[in-house]
Amino acid sequence: MNDTPAPSPCLDQALEILQHTFGYTEFRPPQDHIIGHLIDGGDALVLMPTGGGKSLCYQIPAMVRAGTGIIISPLIALMQDQVSALQQLGIRAACLNSALTPESARAVESQLLAAELDLLYVAPERLLTSRMIDLLGRSHIALFAIDEAHCVSQWGHDFRPEYIQLSQLHERFPNIPRIALTATADEPTRKEIIERLALNEAERFIVGFDRPNIRYRIDENSGNARERLLRFIQDEHPGEAGIVYCLSRKRVDEVAAWLRTKYIEALPYHAGLDSKTRELHQTRFLREEGVVIVATIAFGMGIDKPDVRFVAHLNLPKSVEAYYQETGRAGRDGLPADAWMVYGLQDVIMLRQMQASSEADETHKRLERHKLDAMLSLCETTECRRQALLGYFADPLEQPCGNCDICLQPPETWDATVAAQKALSCAHRTGQRFGVNYLVDVLLGKDNQRIQQFRHHQVSTYGIGDEHSAPEWRTIYRQLIARGLLAVDLEGYGGLHLTPASRTVLRGETQLMLRKVRKISKRTKREARRDTKITDAHRDLWEALRKLRLNLAESQGVPAYVIFHDATLMEMAERRPQTREQLATVSGVGDRKLEAYGNDFLQLLQTFNPSLDDPALDTIEETLKHLQQGRDVTEIALQRELTEATIYNHLATAIEQERLSLHETLTLPEDQLNTIRFAFEQYGVDGRLRQVYEALEGEYDYGLLRCVQAHLRIGG
Ligand code: ADP
Ligand code: ZN
Repeated sequence: MNDTPAPSPCLDQALEILQHTFGYTEFRPPQDHIIGHLIDGGDALVLMPTGGGKSLCYQIPAMVRAGTGIIISPLIALMQDQVSALQQLGIRAACLNSALTPESARAVESQLLAAELDLLYVAPERLLTSRMIDLLGRSHIALFAIDEAHCVSQWGHDFRPEYIQLSQLHERFPNIPRIALTATADEPTRKEIIERLALNEAERFIVGFDRPNIRYRIDENSGNARERLLRFIQDEHPGEAGIVYCLSRKRVDEVAAWLRTKYIEALPYHAGLDSKTRELHQTRFLREEGVVIVATIAFGMGIDKPDVRFVAHLNLPKSVEAYYQETGRAGRDGLPADAWMVYGLQDVIMLRQMQASSEADETHKRLERHKLDAMLSLCETTECRRQALLGYFADPLEQPCGNCDICLQPPETWDATVAAQKALSCAHRTGQRFGVNYLVDVLLGKDNQRIQQFRHHQVSTYGIGDEHSAPEWRTIYRQLIARGLLAVDLEGYGGLHLTPASRTVLRGETQLMLRKVRKISKRTKREARRDTKITDAHRDLWEALRKLRLNLAESQGVPAYVIFHDATLMEMAERRPQTREQLATVSGVGDRKLEAYGNDFLQLLQTFNPSLDDPALDTIEETLKHLQQGRDVTEIALQRELTEATIYNHLATAIEQERLSLHETLTLPEDQLNTIRFAFEQYGVDGRLRQVYEALEGEYDYGLLRCVQAHLRIGG
């Protein structure tokens, strides 16, 4: 007798798909349970952190079950990229949303009816039109997946009214399994999802919320936030993709423009830009490598770019939920990433004021106050950030994490009781209506007109604070406000008054320990470097692999990560597979991609020589030989089983090395050459090929442009 049940044949099939289609070795629990449950026809609610691997939980069952899986997602702008990524894997996927022309939409509809689709992504507002419901009624449906399910919650920050209607699915199609997925899930939101989507019967799969690859760092803003940000990007993330969040549109524009003057490819994104610009910036962020988006919170919901290496906050988010969600956009691929923030006194005062003057009812206000307090205490904590974060989400972490600023460099604290008493009584003596800067002036005994005017050079706290500098006093005030020992006035002038809690400090009944201002240390920097994983030995190969990937992506107009994720390239750089069999064992290399790109990558891996920054000479030689025999690029690519992008790349290198001239390479009429030359002159011959490509409205493909670029570079 054997008491382990035989694995269901369906799960075997699921594993087969995981390995051959997606190129991964094994499921990350509980993916296997979720997939098995859905294949068997059950409903599921899945709470999993960003990057946990939610997509496979519905994609694979949709492929195993007969019929089409319908995915409801609010992220219209990203649907096409998701679909492209699936098509690259050989999966029959499509989408229906308002970005499609009526003809394309009709084509997709007939594919659905003809059972020619594995997966169909649909925008929620479209799903519940009578036309769509009717269409679904006549199609064979494998399952419904409701992505970003927290959009159904009215309390959440991403509420979408159309989501409320989704409960109709259950009424209309009671026998089709449904799976709702989200990465946001405090208890009230969870309850709301279950209720509103009628998921009472659904099995719940809740995965811990930790994102161990993200390093949390929160530091004080001592007035030089922009410079600190620049140094952070230059030192730790040069040429890498990231998101910078600011509070206001004006600040977004200003920071983006300033970063560009420092040669960082930074693009603004906020609701004040027209939709075309926004879309362009989002697309460039997704498609190109190393673009930094500077945005208000309007940016980012569901951005599923896997290789965002950092999220930086130049302002304090309103709640821990918002902070966690925004920082969660970093490192979805599981590789090391940074959540970096600076915040200061001004943030605290501004958010407190915004809240106090909000029109919301008292219950709502109390809730918001509570949320901001939690955020502030996360900032001011002297214990592991991750423990504080996960504790907030009721998912406690036993040990300090070892991967946050506090663990890496524990802050020093000092007994600030006396200083706090001075600071508080100065507010008291001056009538509880002045702001921080004024109070600091009084403490330091400044002689200025305002102080004279109010006769505050006569109060007992005048000039009693010269043991601390002005910035130190501001830090003290910030911590007092953050801890609720001082409150900000409602009128908006930043006046500070005492709170009931301040009395115990004033009377000396509690000892108050505050954080010392931290010097930015070299240590954190070195630590951060250490685990970026790519050692110098790999770096050249890694760059060459990235370049090849970009060529392949550009020539198809898809984002680079759709070809291979960073994690896959990194594994290639480390293991240097030399045969197809070896390449097939690299995580993320499935059958279809092995077929499409295997030879290109193997060529590079087999011939890579770090002393040359381009593909090794003999492979170029080989291409040139074919060219001399009178073959064109398409024929050479076919013959050599490489992509055309790679062949063009060989030719461009040869042109740049002056071993080949442009007219030996291509037949390009003079007027067309001039048009292209003109475009290059506008953007600079070393500028981004994409800009030239777009300026020419896609008329010439990338390979050809690359050859012309090489020609111009050598003065042609
Ligand atoms: P989520 O939607 O939960 O944020 P994704 O579904 O985008 O996460 O998955 C995050 C990353 O993890 C993707 O790069 C995905 O391909 C990868 N991934 C998912 N499941 C596995 C697995 N079983 N093995 C290896 N990689 C996986
Ligand atoms: Zn920690």
